[in-house]
Amino acid sequence: MLKSVCPECDADVRFTSMPKVGQRLTCSTCHSVLTVIDQHPIELDWAFLEPFEASISNNRRPPPKRGV
Ligand SMILES: [Zn+2]
Repeated sequence: MLKSVCPECDADVRFTSMPKVGQRLTCSTCHSVLTVIDQHPIELDWAFLEPFEASISNNRRPPPKRGV
């Protein structure tokens, strides 16, 4: 079972196949638009923080807010 956790609502997000880094998806629970930032393990982040990311291979941005 491929799954990750929504950074917004902590709901499980399941995948039928390994998602690509940079792939976008929508959380079925809170409808946040998310993007895959890592595959091992699968990690999700908010997609709207990088509306157009040309160099996805280099992940050097600081982490976004994760609640408090
Ligand atoms: Zn969610």
